[in-house]
Amino acid sequence: MRKIFLPVLLLFFNLMNAGAASPPDEGFAKNVILLIADGTSLEQYTLARWFKGEKLTIEKHRRGTVMTYIADSVIADSAPAASAYATGVRTADKFISIAAPSSGMLTPELNCPEDAALKPLATILEGARLKGKKTGIVVTCHFTHATPAAFFSHVRDREDKLNIARQSVESGIDLMFGGGKKYLLPSSEGGVLPEGENLLARLKERGYAIIEKSGELAALKDEKVWGIFANDDLLPEIDRIQTGPDKEPSLAEMTGKAIEILSKGDEGFFLMVEGSQIDWACHANDPAYLVYEIIAFDDAAKVAFDFAKKRKDTLVIALSDHNTGGFSIGNRSTDGTYSQTRIEDMLNPLKKMKCSAASIVKRLGKDADANKLKSLLEEFWGISIQEQAAQELLATMKNAGKYPQNALCDFVGPKYTIFGWTTHGHTGGDVPFAAYGPGAPEGSIDAPEIGRLCAEALGINLNKLNSVNIHRKDGVR
Ligand SMILES: [Zn+2]
Repeated sequence: MRKIFLPVLLLFFNLMNAGAASPPDEGFAKNVILLIADGTSLEQYTLARWFKGEKLTIEKHRRGTVMTYIADSVIADSAPAASAYATGVRTADKFISIAAPSSGMLTPELNCPEDAALKPLATILEGARLKGKKTGIVVTCHFTHATPAAFFSHVRDREDKLNIARQSVESGIDLMFGGGKKYLLPSSEGGVLPEGENLLARLKERGYAIIEKSGELAALKDEKVWGIFANDDLLPEIDRIQTGPDKEPSLAEMTGKAIEILSKGDEGFFLMVEGSQIDWACHANDPAYLVYEIIAFDDAAKVAFDFAKKRKDTLVIALSDHNTGGFSIGNRSTDGTYSQTRIEDMLNPLKKMKCSAASIVKRLGKDADANKLKSLLEEFWGISIQEQAAQELLATMKNAGKYPQNALCDFVGPKYTIFGWTTHGHTGGDVPFAAYGPGAPEGSIDAPEIGRLCAEALGINLNKLNSVNIHRKDGVR
């Protein structure tokens, strides 16, 4: 741990020195809000628009597309994809805000400082802190997941979650809303940290207020706060809305509160909001899960765009990090009939779905039998299948390893919906972005450019911060 931790502390030390040594550069936006819809592209938004019955907020502000490829693959994963947005530098698979190796990459990285290979890269969140701005992260996953991690931590493997957690509590970030309490506690208290290590206690020691219930959100006044609303990830939106009055907060509620708190500072703020589970819905090829996640993300984006529209000093960018699932409206079942597709052909199967595929798997439990599966599909998805089909499906799901919900969606998708999916992984096409406010970009943009233009908007010189940092002799291992 010490090996990993020391260089990161040095990074922060160097960042502080960098800030002290040179006068702050002038930006043209007081605040930047970056909203990341993890793992989606145009066609998923089209479906959500049909489902909602009106244009989405992000569609109203759509201004262009982002090229998402990473340093060592034409198809991006979230760690390097988010790192590009966080640092303005294209990096390699699994890397969290660490510069790519110096050779073997697809294209030369022009923005990577010389000698920076395998070393931490300064992020916009860190740069914003140095300028005295408030900083915040709002997610629906556990806070050590790749996308949030890219803004406040530096590790070579996105699965190095304990070190991501350690770095997060020392990062000085003002506000964190999401899930992942288990990453703050030792195993004797239900967590995953070694005995004797308690990051929740460390957060309190550092002066953070901790809240765990959505009911505490409305009255919250503290300006340094962690809202940890689940032991692991928050619920999928489609499942969250079915829960009782103590339900977890929505992404829009968390975003609204984050903006209210962060905007109290005189110096402005940087906020990253992630619709974390759009990606998971697309990995599962689960259209109902997907459509609720997109609409929840759009509701959060509306809060941000509305805030920015009332003032002239806030840049909002809403975009994806990559596409997932290869979703299409139309599949093999519409090969000969696509030009006669009616709205109800598309939406009726979806409207009958009242929970995610993962929730059906959870309800099935370990002692699953075909009858139970059959009745769950009837009750929650409005789908009737024969007993023989239920038996075959159950066997396939049991053989599907970690993701039985993928097998469930593979069965349902082609037969009961008109949606197509090409993969349970990611795809490499460009993704759309929406933007509003000073410095709002337009056109076809390279992913790292997003990070650089956010930095520029806030007057953060990432090159300067990196040029100080790269004199450290060590990297993060
Ligand atoms: Zn992603």
